Amino acid sequence: MTKHTNRIASPLLRRINERRLLEVIQRQGPSSRAMLARSSGLTAPTVSKAVDLLLARGLLEELDPVEQALGRPGRLVRMATESAAVLGVVVDASTCCIVAAGLDGRVTEEQTRRLPTPDTYAAVMDGIERQCRGLLAEISGTVHGIGVSVPGLVNERLREIVCSPNLHILDKRNPARDLEDRLGVPCVLTQETDSLCLSERMYGAARGLEDFAVLDATTGLGLGAMSGGQLLAGHSGMAGEVGHITVAPDGIRCGCGNRGCLETLATDAALLRLLAERLGHPLDIAGAAALLAERSADFQPEIRTVTEHLAIAIAAVINIFNPTALLVHSTLLAGSEERFARVLERVKHRTLTASLADCTIVAARSSKRQGAIASIMHHLTNTWAPSIR
Ligand SMILES: [Zn+2]
Repeated sequence: MTKHTNRIASPLLRRINERRLLEVIQRQGPSSRAMLARSSGLTAPTVSKAVDLLLARGLLEELDPVEQALGRPGRLVRMATESAAVLGVVVDASTCCIVAAGLDGRVTEEQTRRLPTPDTYAAVMDGIERQCRGLLAEISGTVHGIGVSVPGLVNERLREIVCSPNLHILDKRNPARDLEDRLGVPCVLTQETDSLCLSERMYGAARGLEDFAVLDATTGLGLGAMSGGQLLAGHSGMAGEVGHITVAPDGIRCGCGNRGCLETLATDAALLRLLAERLGHPLDIAGAAALLAERSADFQPEIRTVTEHLAIAIAAVINIFNPTALLVHSTLLAGSEERFARVLERVKHRTLTASLADCTIVAARSSKRQGAIASIMHHLTNTWAPSIR
């Protein structure tokens, strides 16, 4: 490389190094410059310069000396938590959730607001705006942005939700753009299972993994897949819709308009529907969990149907994507050790043996509100510089 091209490339290289440091600090928490040089493989002067710039931009902050460990290994820096914040907004079929967090991404109940999802789009936006304004008024530091997590098909080229099978008031809408207009704070729209994927990689069970998937089998059946460290997107960001594979050609009508989608048989919502049909009255998720804890023997046919279809969904993801880990979100099936063991037993009969041998399947722990925070943190680091691996 000539000196000339080297000079041209250096601003980008500098940003790539800064991004790498941000990711190291996100992963390992408060760190001294010497620790960062060791973990990142960058030289001490490069680390120092990058840390100074990230401090000036308000993405990092120096730890108060009294908070530091004995022996003081040089001043520690961490993701800005006192002086900066991000917000996460989860729009969901039954409840919307708004949360504030520092750039370390730690979410707490004190900083969380919830509201039952109103039945019109305008009322949803009014409710979310009100809760956001309440949280923003309590934050003293700089707010870097808001991550908005939504269910359904998000078309990234059109920048809108083209169809949300379980919450049609979102069809043809972009709540992130609308919230940005109302609040004047940058907002980013992310599909909820993509958010969960980012969250598991930043804060959860998929730290350091490049090829893994998150299957959300709660209300709808959503997939977020990371391949080679990048979210699987497809042409318009709509890839990975395993939930709408037909498994029962004459089955019940799905929210997408077709019949017998996997989503209608493999989710918590599917089990709720089957239990309600059997009992002759509707019940909520907590009611169903309590019922199954006490009398699961009475509902074996319903449990078996959903177990079998969730196993088919898991097998499809493993066969198609060859992930090293698959994290499954489901309150009624993955949330019970005994029922999840049954799902995993059925997965063995539906998956290619070699692909299954590569993959660890675990119940996911991260929440959609953590996902919304992860989506804005991903956006902040991603707009800073591309990721080079
Ligand atoms: Zn469907």
